[in-house]
Amino acid sequence: HLPNSLQGRDITYLLHPVTNARAHERTGPLVITRGEGVHVFDDSGKDYIEGLAGLWSVALGFSEKRLVEAAIRQLHQLPYMHLFASKGHEPSILLAEKLVQMTPKGLDRVHFTNSGSEANDTVIKMVWFYNNAIGRPEKKKFIGRIKGYHGITIAAGSLTGIPANHKGFDLPLDFARHVSTPHYWRFGHEGETEDQYSDRLAAELEEMILTEGPDTVAAFIGEPLMGAGGVIVPPRGYWPKIQAVCRKYDVLIVADEVINGFGRTGKMFACETYGIEPDILVLSKQITSSYQPLAAVVFSDAIYQGIADGSETLGTFGHGYTTSGHPVATAVGLECISIIEERDLVSNAARMGRILREGLARYKDHPMVGEVRGEGLIAAVEFVSDKATKAGFQPVGLAAQAVMAACQHHGLILRVSGEAVCFCPPLIITEDEIRELLHRFDLAMTDAFAQIAA
Ligand code: PLP
Repeated sequence: HLPNSLQGRDITYLLHPVTNARAHERTGPLVITRGEGVHVFDDSGKDYIEGLAGLWSVALGFSEKRLVEAAIRQLHQLPYMHLFASKGHEPSILLAEKLVQMTPKGLDRVHFTNSGSEANDTVIKMVWFYNNAIGRPEKKKFIGRIKGYHGITIAAGSLTGIPANHKGFDLPLDFARHVSTPHYWRFGHEGETEDQYSDRLAAELEEMILTEGPDTVAAFIGEPLMGAGGVIVPPRGYWPKIQAVCRKYDVLIVADEVINGFGRTGKMFACETYGIEPDILVLSKQITSSYQPLAAVVFSDAIYQGIADGSETLGTFGHGYTTSGHPVATAVGLECISIIEERDLVSNAARMGRILREGLARYKDHPMVGEVRGEGLIAAVEFVSDKATKAGFQPVGLAAQAVMAACQHHGLILRVSGEAVCFCPPLIITEDEIRELLHRFDLAMTDAFAQIAA
C-alpha cells in the first residue's frame, strides 16, 4: 500500500483490536466508507452484504435515519450530562423504564455502561458489593463456560472462556472458573441423548460448586446461545437443569444477552427462547444498533435492595463512568427499541432466520461440513476435515478462514470462530437479501474448497 493511502496510514498509526498485528501489516485494512441497509461499501466502491451486522450488532442496518435524527435531536437538546451524585436526564430515565417493562419478569432496575465488557465488569462489582452488603463476603467466585464470551477487560475477560483472549495477558484472574461448552454435536457421547448430555453438564456444574464450596460461589454467567464462541445452540433441557443447580446453591444467574437480546434468537430475549429466569440480564449491541456505545445491566429488586442498604453501611456505591447512560446513547437506544417494536423485527428475524437456516442446511451433506446450526437469525457452519471423526483442519480454522476470504471476494462479510463461519445479519434483512447472501456464500464455498483440494 502507498504510504499516503488510507491503508498505508492505517498500517503506520494504528494497533487494531483483536487483530494479528504482523499479519495486518502485510495485508492492511479493508476500509469501509459507507453503508446502506444491510450493505457496506469499501473505498473502491465494492459492495458487501454485512452478514455479521458489524459485530453481531447493527440490528437496523447501516442507514437508519431515525437513529441519526434521534442523536441529533439529543445533541441539540442536551449533548451531555452524567448520572453521578443523583444527577439525572430524561433519555436515561425513559430507557431504564422501558427496559424494566420489556425484559422478563423479576428484573426491576437498570445500570448503564458504555460497552458489554464494562457491563460484565459492573456485574462482578455489583455482585461483590451486594454480597459484602448482605454479610456473605466469601461468596465471590463466578463460573463461566469454555468458549463463553463476556468481554475483554481484565475482569470480564476472565469470565470469557476463550484461550486466545487470555494468552499473553496473564488471565483469567483467580475469581473465575469455567465449566464445559454445551455443544452436543461435538461433545455428546456416543448414544447419549441431548437430555442426558444436559444432565451431565448440570452434574459437572454441581460438582464444581461443591468442590469450590457453595459459600464461595457467587454467580453463574452464560450467553443463552453462545455467540463469539461459534454460535453454539444449547442442547435440550440445558438451561432449566443449569438453573436448578444454581438455585439449589444460591448462585445468581447472569444471562449475557449482549448478542442475543432484542430479537436475535426469534424472541425479544433469548431467556424467553430457553426458559431462563435470570437475576441479572446484560444487554448491549442491538440496543442502539451500535450507532452509539451503550450497554445495560438489568437486575432484580433483591440485588438492588442489598446494594441500596449497602450504600448506607459500606458507603456509596462507588462505581460508574463519565459517560454511563450518556444522553445521546440512551436517546438512540429508545428510538432503536421503538423501531424494533413498530416494525416487528423480532418476527422478521424468526422468519428470515428460517430461510437462512434452510438455505444453509443444504451444506449438511458437503464432505467437509460437520454441523449447520442456529436459532432465529443467527447461524454457523462448522467445517471438518473428516466427517466421521469430526476432526478439524490443521492449522485450526484453515477451511473457515478460506471460506471467509472467498466470501469477502464475492461481497459477503462473515466472521470465523475456530472451524466455524458465523452468520448474524441485520434484523431488517429481507427474503431477497437472504437469498443473495446465500448465493454469495455458495460461490465462496465452491472457490474455497477448490482451493483447499488443490
Ligand atoms: N458479552 C457478549 C455476549 C459479547 O458478545 C460481547 C462482545 O462481543 C461482550 C460481552 C463484550 O462487549 P463489548 O465488545 O461491547 O465490550
